[in-house]
Amino acid sequence: MIIGSLLPFLDIRFLDILDILLVAFLLYRLYYLIRGTGALYIFLGILSIYLLWWVVRIFEMELLTEILGQFMSVGVLALIIVFQPEIRKFLLMIGTRSIINKGSKSIFKKFWQFGEQFSFNLTPIVNACETFSQKKTGALIVFTKENNLEYYIETGEILDAKISEDLLENIFYRNSPLHDGAVIITNNKIAAARCVLPVSDNPSFPTNLGLRHRAALGITEHSDAIAVVVSEQTGRISWFKDGNMKRNIKPVQLKEFLAKEFMS
Ligand code: ATP
Ligand code: MG
Repeated sequence: MIIGSLLPFLDIRFLDILDILLVAFLLYRLYYLIRGTGALYIFLGILSIYLLWWVVRIFEMELLTEILGQFMSVGVLALIIVFQPEIRKFLLMIGTRSIINKGSKSIFKKFWQFGEQFSFNLTPIVNACETFSQKKTGALIVFTKENNLEYYIETGEILDAKISEDLLENIFYRNSPLHDGAVIITNNKIAAARCVLPVSDNPSFPTNLGLRHRAALGITEHSDAIAVVVSEQTGRISWFKDGNMKRNIKPVQLKEFLAKEFMS
């Protein structure tokens, strides 16, 4: 109302501001919910076309309004058909744990809460990585944050086990049936092993690194997770975050990095 009287030509009411804030809040929570899934890109695509449509309507650009208007009515349906596998993946991901179990990870709870506390016992993980590095055992470990990576956990062997150095060494031992793929650590537990991660298609990725490193980069491009790789070829440790990679780090640096990420 005050703003309305200051800017009479805009005529903004208190309810309009509330309206905008509520929409912004809902979009923000929706973004958090679908981060790390293919559905995010569909959502962003539809959102940007909708915003463009809105802008061209305000400026009364008839032709574009007409075309985008048609697209909004037919296009959404077409998008649902084209992206059916991604949408299915997304529904599967939120369905498997959140809605059906109605547990602490209830989708409703997840929708409302801001940030979680992430913490786990670092020492066995860092010690295991040091051993892998010395023995040149290949390893790929992913640590979840806000996104619980339910979909990727489902691709592997569910363990739900306490974190221990021995168990990690057993998993990545070269002849172990679980050594292939990634271990995913979530809620201070080894959630699963042998998980298949999305492989990054970043064209500037170093050519001397293979699929293990690409998969580690891929999962951090798709989600807020952290990944750690020990190379089978060189024994070098690398960490990955937000689509970035830091190569050749020492165990003590790994510990510092993980502590900074998870113990704050
Ligand atoms: P290293 O330095 O250890 O050789 P690299 O980056 O060169 O690693 P590759 O030699 O291609 O990678 O490693 C292959 C291993 O990476 C596979 O045996 C498998 O365990 C793992 N891997 C490959 N693709 C994926 C994926 N999509 N998700 C998870 N793990 C994968
Ligand atoms: Mg290799």
